[in-house]
Parts: sequence; structure tokens; C-alpha cells
Amino acid sequence: MGDVKVNTVLGPISPEEMGVTLPHEHICYGYPGWEGDQTIAPLDHDTIVANGVATLQQLKALGLNTYIDATPLDGGRQPEILKEVSEKSGVNIICATGYYFEGEGATAYWKFRGSLGDISGELYELFLKEVTVGIRDTGIKAGVLKVASSKGIITDYEKLMFQAAAKVQQETGIPIITHTQEGTMGPDQAKLLIDAGADPKKIQIGHMSDNLDINYQLDTLKNGVYVSWDRMGLQGLVGCPMDEQRYAVMTELIKKGYADKMLISHDFIITWLGRPLNLPEEAFPLIANWHPTHLFKNIIPALKQGGATDEQIKAITVDNPRRLFSGE
Ligand SMILES: [Zn+2]
Repeated sequence: MGDVKVNTVLGPISPEEMGVTLPHEHICYGYPGWEGDQTIAPLDHDTIVANGVATLQQLKALGLNTYIDATPLDGGRQPEILKEVSEKSGVNIICATGYYFEGEGATAYWKFRGSLGDISGELYELFLKEVTVGIRDTGIKAGVLKVASSKGIITDYEKLMFQAAAKVQQETGIPIITHTQEGTMGPDQAKLLIDAGADPKKIQIGHMSDNLDINYQLDTLKNGVYVSWDRMGLQGLVGCPMDEQRYAVMTELIKKGYADKMLISHDFIITWLGRPLNLPEEAFPLIANWHPTHLFKNIIPALKQGGATDEQIKAITVDNPRRLFSGE
């Protein structure tokens, strides 16, 4: 394990240097199509940096060391900006390569190429180069592979992404993190990745916070993967349940002995690309805690009240992220 390196946007660190880690967040994010709206809402570099640095400094004061930016390459990923935010905040940032799910990603390019022939080799080449050489000409290497599936199905398009990511992981050891849609396909994603050659110890199944059925959790966990409760604070939107209900299931999982397989994050977006969101007023109280400080201010105290020990909290916030990268 001594020679395993984690790619941050500032260069390699050892897994032991990751410390307290938020495993699924975003510095900035835009749904595909935001690029075309830049006459009205151009990318505002200075605001993204200022907001990112302010939030990461707040988190650093609460003990955070590492922030995994799960933005896929069709979500407006900005590696150079992430690098600047990391330099100015002193927090490690790990960025991703990979694509979002078919319904909400930028799929036209690959689907057209796919209609003309097999694209598996091309996806593999892209993901491999972004983790071993760098993204475009930035020299910044992606540190995680991001894949995503639709509600109730992993489409053929998405399967190609999963298989390419599994192959790159086999060769490089880079962890795979996923997006599940509305609490579906967690166990299926785990099986698909493992069948394609991925190491379960290096798989983080995402948005497990969106399905409170204990059997769904256990079916996913029995594959040996991490379950990432990473939409905490996001309630009542995009199919998300309430945190109070989530705490009960998290506590049950901890009591069943799964603290060493759980991760916690918020999927928070510090700055939206494109125009600001017009959220309905009813949503404000529901997402009042949707912020990456929520873990420190509310979630850890709630889990402790449910009986979680300091050691279990450390497993979830420090040891599990480290093991995801080291493969321990
Ligand atoms: Zn996300």
C-alpha cells in the first residue's frame, strides 16, 4: 500500500494524507447545455474561485482535509479552477473523469460515434489518459472514475462507461464512484462493475441516501462495495427523502456492523454554471442544511445520538475514504 498514490489536482499524495474526506461534492456544476447559455450567463471564473475558497476554508476550520469533486466531464468540469481553489484554500481536491447518465448527460457525441462502430476502446483510451497523463493539456490527472445509471435501468450507453471504467481501474487502481438515480440500481451497478473486473474495495456506490429500504442497502453491501450516503441535506427534491428518516437507517446499518463500509457527503454544488436556479420558495426550508458543513454540524451529532462511537465516525469520515484509494 505504501506506493499507492492519490491524484489530487495539485499532484500525487498518499492515501494516508487524505484525512477527513467528503467523498462526493462539487465546486461547480452545469447541466449539459449551460455552455450554450453563456451569452446571458457566462462562466464567471472569479466567482467560482471565491465561492469555492470561502466554502473550503469554512470546511477546513471544521477539520476537512480532502474534497472529492465528482463532476463528470459532461457536467462542466473545470480542472484548472479546481486547482486554483485547492491552492488558495489549502484543501486537497480530487477531480473525476467519466460521464453522467444517459438522460442528463451530454450523450449525442458518443451515441453518434456508437452508431458507426464500437466505442469501448475510445472510452477506455480517454479515461486511461485522463488518470495517467492528464486532462486536455492541463497536466491535472483525474483521481476517480465517475459512472452513472438511469432510474431503474443501466442502459447500453451507460454499460459501456461502466465497462471502460472497470478496465481502467484494473490497470491503474483508480477508485470508481457512481451516481444512482432516485435510489435505484445500487446492487446492479456493483455487480456490473465487479463482473467487468473492478475491485469491490475500490467502488463507491453513490446516492445510497435516496433509498431507505434496508434490503436495498444490504443487497448493495453484500458485494463488498462502499455505500455512499452522499445527498445529505438534500430533501424533497430529485426523489430525496428527509434526513430524519435517513439517520434512522444509517444508525441501523452502523448497528449491523457496516460503519467500515459507509461514506457520507452532500452532493452539494457550490456554484451553478449557467443562470442561477429559480427554486420554488417551498424548497428553501427543505434544503436549508444542504451544505457540506452539515456533516460536521448536524449529521455526526445525530449519528452519535443514535449510538455511533467516535471510532465508527472516524471509520466513515477518514478510514473508509483512505481505504477506497489504498484498497486495504
Ligand atoms: Zn454529484
